[in-house]
Amino acid sequence: MNYVILDMEWNQSYPKTDSEGKKKTSPMNEIIEIGAIKLNEKLEFMDAFKCLVRPCYIKKLNSHVKKLTGITSEMLRRGIWFPEAVVDFRDWCGEDRVILTWGYDDVPMLESCLKLYGLETGWIGRWYNLQVIFNAQTDGGKNQRSLKSAVEYFNLTVDEEGHPQHDALNDAGYTAMVCRCLDLERGIAEYGHSTKSMSPSVIAFGDLKVESRRQFPCAVINGRSQCPEAFSVNPCPRCGAPMVRGKWVRQGRGKMIAIGECREHGRFFMQNSIVRNGGERTVRKTVYKSAPSAEEFYAERLSVEEQKAERRAANRAARRAENEMEAEEA
Ligand SMILES: [Zn+2]
Repeated sequence: MNYVILDMEWNQSYPKTDSEGKKKTSPMNEIIEIGAIKLNEKLEFMDAFKCLVRPCYIKKLNSHVKKLTGITSEMLRRGIWFPEAVVDFRDWCGEDRVILTWGYDDVPMLESCLKLYGLETGWIGRWYNLQVIFNAQTDGGKNQRSLKSAVEYFNLTVDEEGHPQHDALNDAGYTAMVCRCLDLERGIAEYGHSTKSMSPSVIAFGDLKVESRRQFPCAVINGRSQCPEAFSVNPCPRCGAPMVRGKWVRQGRGKMIAIGECREHGRFFMQNSIVRNGGERTVRKTVYKSAPSAEEFYAERLSVEEQKAERRAANRAARRAENEMEAEEA
Protein backbone atom coordinates (compact mmCIF):
# COMPACT_ATOMS: atom_id res chain seq x y z
CA MET A 1 0.00 0.00 0.00
CA ASN A 2 1.21 3.49 -0.88
CA TYR A 3 0.77 6.73 1.00
CA VAL A 4 -0.44 9.88 -0.73
CA ILE A 5 0.40 12.97 1.28
CA LEU A 6 -1.99 15.67 0.18
CA ASP A 7 -1.87 19.40 0.75
CA MET A 8 -4.03 22.02 -0.89
CA GLU A 9 -4.37 25.77 -0.92
CA TRP A 10 -7.75 27.38 -1.35
CA ASN A 11 -9.19 30.81 -1.99
CA GLN A 12 -11.87 32.25 0.22
CA SER A 13 -14.63 34.65 -0.59
CA TYR A 14 -16.11 36.90 2.03
CA PRO A 15 -19.88 36.99 2.41
CA LYS A 16 -21.38 39.86 0.44
CA THR A 17 -23.51 42.18 2.54
CA ASP A 18 -26.30 44.55 1.58
CA SER A 19 -26.49 48.22 2.59
CA GLU A 20 -27.87 47.27 6.01
CA GLY A 21 -24.97 44.90 6.64
CA LYS A 22 -27.07 41.77 6.29
CA LYS A 23 -25.40 38.80 4.64
CA LYS A 24 -26.50 38.18 1.05
CA THR A 25 -24.18 35.27 0.37
CA SER A 26 -22.30 32.85 2.55
CA PRO A 27 -18.52 32.63 2.46
CA MET A 28 -17.17 30.11 0.03
CA ASN A 29 -13.95 28.22 -0.60
CA GLU A 30 -12.40 27.14 -3.86
CA ILE A 31 -9.30 25.00 -4.28
CA ILE A 32 -6.54 26.79 -6.18
CA GLU A 33 -3.60 24.45 -5.73
CA ILE A 34 -3.17 20.72 -5.24
CA GLY A 35 0.16 19.34 -4.09
CA ALA A 36 0.94 15.76 -3.18
CA ILE A 37 3.80 13.35 -2.58
CA LYS A 38 3.52 9.62 -3.04
CA LEU A 39 5.53 7.31 -0.80
CA ASN A 40 5.74 3.52 -0.95
CA GLU A 41 5.19 1.39 2.12
CA LYS A 42 8.84 1.80 3.13
CA LEU A 43 8.15 5.55 3.01
CA GLU A 44 10.47 5.96 0.03
CA PHE A 45 9.71 8.76 -2.42
CA MET A 46 7.83 7.61 -5.52
CA ASP A 47 6.40 10.69 -7.20
CA ALA A 48 5.20 14.26 -6.78
CA PHE A 49 2.05 15.97 -8.04
CA LYS A 50 1.48 19.69 -8.32
CA CYS A 51 -1.06 21.73 -10.15
CA LEU A 52 -2.64 25.15 -10.02
CA VAL A 53 -6.40 25.23 -10.41
CA ARG A 54 -8.17 27.94 -12.39
CA PRO A 55 -10.96 29.36 -10.22
CA CYS A 56 -14.50 29.34 -11.58
CA TYR A 57 -16.57 30.66 -8.70
CA ILE A 58 -14.41 33.14 -6.79
CA LYS A 59 -12.75 35.44 -9.27
CA LYS A 60 -11.00 37.73 -6.81
CA LEU A 61 -7.98 36.28 -5.06
CA ASN A 62 -8.25 36.94 -1.35
CA SER A 63 -5.33 39.18 -0.37
CA HIS A 64 -4.45 37.04 2.66
CA VAL A 65 -4.34 33.92 0.53
CA LYS A 66 -2.22 35.75 -2.03
CA LYS A 67 0.22 36.90 0.62
CA LEU A 68 0.37 33.51 2.34
CA THR A 69 0.80 31.36 -0.76
CA GLY A 70 2.53 33.70 -3.18
CA ILE A 71 -0.01 32.64 -5.79
CA THR A 72 -1.19 35.46 -8.08
CA SER A 73 -4.32 35.83 -10.22
CA GLU A 74 -2.06 35.76 -13.26
CA MET A 75 -0.71 32.34 -12.24
CA LEU A 76 -4.23 31.02 -11.66
CA ARG A 77 -5.41 32.12 -15.10
CA ARG A 78 -2.95 29.57 -16.50
CA GLY A 79 -4.22 26.90 -14.09
CA ILE A 80 -6.23 23.78 -14.96
CA TRP A 81 -10.02 23.58 -14.72
CA PHE A 82 -10.93 21.83 -11.43
CA PRO A 83 -12.72 18.78 -12.94
CA GLU A 84 -9.65 18.06 -15.09
CA ALA A 85 -7.24 18.67 -12.23
CA VAL A 86 -9.02 16.17 -9.96
CA VAL A 87 -9.16 13.50 -12.65
CA ASP A 88 -5.39 13.92 -13.10
CA PHE A 89 -4.94 13.75 -9.36
CA ARG A 90 -7.19 10.72 -8.93
CA ASP A 91 -5.34 8.81 -11.67
CA TRP A 92 -2.00 9.82 -10.20
CA CYS A 93 -3.06 8.55 -6.72
CA GLY A 94 -3.65 5.04 -8.10
CA GLU A 95 -5.56 2.28 -6.39
CA ASP A 96 -3.86 0.77 -3.37
CA ARG A 97 -3.20 3.82 -1.22
CA VAL A 98 -4.45 5.92 1.66
CA ILE A 99 -4.45 9.70 1.85
CA LEU A 100 -2.59 11.48 4.64
CA THR A 101 -2.99 15.15 5.45
CA TRP A 102 -1.72 17.57 8.05
CA GLY A 103 -4.96 18.72 9.65
CA TYR A 104 -8.64 18.00 9.29
CA ASP A 105 -9.39 20.54 6.56
CA ASP A 106 -7.96 19.31 3.26
CA VAL A 107 -10.10 16.24 2.56
CA PRO A 108 -13.44 17.83 3.54
CA MET A 109 -12.43 20.81 1.36
CA LEU A 110 -11.74 18.46 -1.55
CA GLU A 111 -15.10 16.75 -0.97
CA SER A 112 -17.02 20.01 -0.89
CA CYS A 113 -15.38 21.25 -4.11
CA LEU A 114 -16.14 17.93 -5.83
CA LYS A 115 -19.77 18.28 -4.76
CA LEU A 116 -19.82 21.87 -5.99
CA TYR A 117 -19.01 20.53 -9.48
CA GLY A 118 -21.37 17.56 -9.10
CA LEU A 119 -18.43 15.15 -9.14
CA GLU A 120 -18.08 11.83 -7.39
CA THR A 121 -16.32 11.73 -3.98
CA GLY A 122 -16.15 7.99 -3.30
CA TRP A 123 -12.67 7.60 -4.86
CA ILE A 124 -11.04 9.62 -2.06
CA GLY A 125 -11.24 6.54 0.15
CA ARG A 126 -9.55 6.23 3.52
CA TRP A 127 -7.68 9.22 4.90
CA TYR A 128 -5.93 10.11 8.13
CA ASN A 129 -4.98 13.33 9.85
CA LEU A 130 -1.28 13.03 10.69
CA GLN A 131 -1.63 15.49 13.56
CA VAL A 132 -3.44 12.73 15.43
CA ILE A 133 -0.64 10.21 14.81
CA PHE A 134 2.02 12.80 15.60
CA ASN A 135 0.42 13.63 18.95
CA ALA A 136 -0.08 9.97 19.84
CA GLN A 137 3.55 9.09 19.09
CA THR A 138 5.22 12.14 20.61
CA ASP A 139 4.00 13.88 23.73
CA GLY A 140 0.35 12.84 23.70
CA GLY A 141 -0.77 16.46 23.26
CA LYS A 142 -4.40 17.18 22.52
CA ASN A 143 -4.01 20.27 20.38
CA GLN A 144 -3.61 20.49 16.64
CA ARG A 145 0.04 21.29 16.06
CA SER A 146 1.33 23.37 13.16
CA LEU A 147 3.32 21.55 10.49
CA LYS A 148 6.32 23.77 11.23
CA SER A 149 6.32 22.82 14.89
CA ALA A 150 6.20 19.12 13.95
CA VAL A 151 9.13 19.57 11.54
CA GLU A 152 11.12 21.31 14.27
CA TYR A 153 10.15 18.71 16.86
CA PHE A 154 12.16 16.16 14.88
CA ASN A 155 15.06 18.61 14.42
CA LEU A 156 14.31 18.94 10.73
CA THR A 157 14.37 22.38 9.15
CA VAL A 158 11.96 24.44 7.12
CA ASP A 159 13.83 26.07 4.25
CA GLU A 160 11.90 29.34 4.09
CA GLU A 161 14.08 30.64 1.25
CA GLY A 162 14.23 27.68 -1.12
CA HIS A 163 11.04 25.83 -0.20
CA PRO A 164 8.70 28.24 1.60
CA GLN A 165 5.69 26.91 3.45
CA HIS A 166 2.13 27.39 2.18
CA ASP A 167 3.06 26.09 -1.20
CA ALA A 168 1.00 22.90 -1.58
CA LEU A 169 3.88 20.75 -2.81
CA ASN A 170 6.41 22.12 -0.32
CA ASP A 171 3.98 21.51 2.54
CA ALA A 172 3.33 17.97 1.30
CA GLY A 173 7.13 17.54 1.24
CA TYR A 174 7.52 18.75 4.83
CA THR A 175 4.66 16.48 5.85
CA ALA A 176 6.49 13.55 4.18
CA MET A 177 9.61 14.40 6.24
CA VAL A 178 7.51 14.23 9.41
CA CYS A 179 5.95 10.93 8.23
CA ARG A 180 9.38 9.31 8.04
CA CYS A 181 9.87 10.06 11.75
CA LEU A 182 6.59 8.37 12.67
CA ASP A 183 5.51 4.76 12.80
CA LEU A 184 2.75 5.14 10.23
CA GLU A 185 1.60 1.53 10.24
CA ARG A 186 1.07 1.56 13.99
CA GLY A 187 -0.38 5.09 13.84
CA ILE A 188 -3.03 4.00 11.36
CA ALA A 189 -3.81 0.81 13.30
CA GLU A 190 -4.31 2.82 16.49
CA TYR A 191 -5.94 5.79 14.78
CA GLY A 192 -9.44 5.36 16.23
CA HIS A 193 -8.06 5.30 19.73
CA SER A 194 -5.79 8.30 19.03
CA THR A 195 -8.59 10.53 17.73
CA LYS A 196 -10.53 9.85 20.89
CA SER A 197 -7.66 10.91 23.10
CA MET A 198 -7.01 14.02 21.00
CA SER A 199 -10.56 15.24 20.78
CA PRO A 200 -11.66 17.03 23.93
CA SER A 201 -15.31 16.31 23.16
CA VAL A 202 -15.54 13.06 25.08
CA ILE A 203 -17.78 13.19 28.10
CA ALA A 204 -19.20 10.26 30.04
CA PHE A 205 -22.87 11.22 29.92
CA GLY A 206 -23.65 7.90 31.59
CA ASP A 207 -21.99 9.22 34.76
CA LEU A 208 -24.30 12.24 34.91
CA LYS A 209 -27.67 12.05 36.60
CA VAL A 210 -30.61 12.79 34.27
CA GLU A 211 -33.05 15.29 35.82
CA SER A 212 -35.48 15.71 32.94
CA ARG A 213 -36.05 14.96 29.27
CA ARG A 214 -38.39 16.74 26.89
CA GLN A 215 -39.05 16.72 23.16
CA PHE A 216 -39.75 19.86 21.17
CA PRO A 217 -41.17 20.00 17.65
CA CYS A 218 -38.62 21.34 15.23
CA ALA A 219 -39.21 23.26 12.01
CA VAL A 220 -36.81 22.99 9.08
CA ILE A 221 -36.26 26.32 7.36
CA ASN A 222 -33.81 26.50 4.44
CA GLY A 223 -32.39 23.14 5.46
CA ARG A 224 -31.65 24.36 8.97
CA SER A 225 -33.41 23.07 12.06
CA GLN A 226 -35.25 25.78 13.93
CA CYS A 227 -36.50 25.22 17.43
CA PRO A 228 -36.24 28.42 19.48
CA GLU A 229 -38.34 27.04 22.34
CA ALA A 230 -35.83 24.35 23.24
CA PHE A 231 -33.19 27.03 23.68
CA SER A 232 -35.09 29.91 25.23
CA VAL A 233 -37.19 28.06 27.80
CA ASN A 234 -34.89 26.81 30.54
CA PRO A 235 -36.81 26.01 33.72
CA CYS A 236 -35.11 24.37 36.67
CA PRO A 237 -35.90 20.63 36.42
CA ARG A 238 -36.72 20.50 40.14
CA CYS A 239 -38.80 23.62 40.83
CA GLY A 240 -39.59 25.04 37.39
CA ALA A 241 -38.13 28.47 38.14
CA PRO A 242 -36.36 30.05 35.15
CA MET A 243 -32.64 29.37 35.31
CA VAL A 244 -29.80 31.76 34.66
CA ARG A 245 -28.13 30.33 31.63
CA GLY A 246 -24.70 30.40 30.03
CA LYS A 247 -24.37 30.64 26.24
CA TRP A 248 -25.45 27.64 24.13
CA VAL A 249 -22.39 26.20 22.42
CA ARG A 250 -21.94 23.58 19.78
CA GLN A 251 -21.00 20.10 20.91
CA GLY A 252 -20.90 18.82 17.33
CA ARG A 253 -23.12 16.46 15.27
CA GLY A 254 -26.41 18.30 15.81
CA LYS A 255 -25.90 18.81 19.53
CA MET A 256 -25.78 22.00 21.59
CA ILE A 257 -24.92 22.33 25.26
CA ALA A 258 -25.33 24.95 27.99
CA ILE A 259 -25.12 25.27 31.74
CA GLY A 260 -28.12 26.61 33.67
CA GLU A 261 -28.31 27.65 37.28
CA CYS A 262 -31.23 27.72 39.72
CA ARG A 263 -30.76 29.82 42.86
CA GLU A 264 -32.32 27.10 44.92
CA HIS A 265 -31.11 23.89 43.26
CA GLY A 266 -27.74 24.72 41.81
CA ARG A 267 -26.23 24.07 38.41
CA PHE A 268 -27.52 21.87 35.59
CA PHE A 269 -25.95 20.73 32.34
CA MET A 270 -28.31 20.91 29.37
CA GLN A 271 -28.00 19.17 26.04
CA ASN A 272 -30.23 19.70 23.02
CA SER A 273 -29.90 17.15 20.25
CA ILE A 274 -31.67 16.98 16.96
CA VAL A 275 -33.43 13.65 16.48
CA ARG A 276 -34.32 12.64 12.94
CA ASN A 277 -37.26 10.35 12.45
CA GLY A 278 -37.82 9.89 8.73
CA GLY A 279 -38.45 13.37 7.37
CA GLU A 280 -39.39 14.73 10.77
CA ARG A 281 -37.08 16.35 13.22
CA THR A 282 -37.51 17.01 16.91
CA VAL A 283 -35.17 18.47 19.48
CA ARG A 284 -34.58 16.30 22.52
CA LYS A 285 -33.62 18.31 25.56
CA THR A 286 -31.91 16.46 28.38
CA VAL A 287 -31.08 18.20 31.64
CA TYR A 288 -28.46 16.61 33.88
CA LYS A 289 -27.29 17.55 37.34
CA SER A 290 -24.01 19.30 36.63
CA ALA A 291 -20.70 17.74 37.69
CA PRO A 292 -17.04 18.87 37.48
CA SER A 293 -16.54 16.83 34.27
CA ALA A 294 -19.58 18.52 32.67
CA GLU A 295 -18.41 22.00 33.74
CA GLU A 296 -14.95 21.33 32.34
CA PHE A 297 -16.37 19.98 29.10
CA TYR A 298 -18.63 23.00 28.68
CA ALA A 299 -15.82 25.45 29.46
CA GLU A 300 -13.63 23.77 26.84
CA ARG A 301 -16.30 23.96 24.12
CA LEU A 302 -17.07 27.56 25.04
CA SER A 303 -13.43 28.57 24.72
CA VAL A 304 -13.15 26.86 21.31
CA GLU A 305 -16.18 28.85 20.09
CA GLU A 306 -14.86 32.09 21.51
CA GLN A 307 -11.53 31.58 19.76
CA LYS A 308 -13.35 30.96 16.48
CA ALA A 309 -15.45 34.10 16.98
CA GLU A 310 -12.27 36.10 17.63
CA ARG A 311 -10.72 34.82 14.42
CA ARG A 312 -13.85 35.72 12.45
CA ALA A 313 -13.83 39.22 13.97
CA ALA A 314 -10.16 39.64 13.05
CA ASN A 315 -10.90 38.53 9.47
CA ARG A 316 -13.77 41.01 9.24
CA ALA A 317 -11.55 43.81 10.54
CA ALA A 318 -8.86 42.90 8.01
CA ARG A 319 -11.45 42.93 5.24
CA ARG A 320 -12.76 46.34 6.29
CA ALA A 321 -9.24 47.75 6.36
CA GLU A 322 -8.65 46.33 2.90
CA ASN A 323 -11.87 47.89 1.56
CA GLU A 324 -10.90 51.25 3.00
CA MET A 325 -7.51 51.04 1.35
CA GLU A 326 -9.12 50.18 -1.97
CA ALA A 327 -11.53 53.08 -1.57
CA GLU A 328 -8.65 55.45 -0.89
CA GLU A 329 -6.75 54.20 -3.92
CA ALA A 330 -9.81 54.74 -6.12
ZN1 LIG B 1 -34.90 25.00 41.19
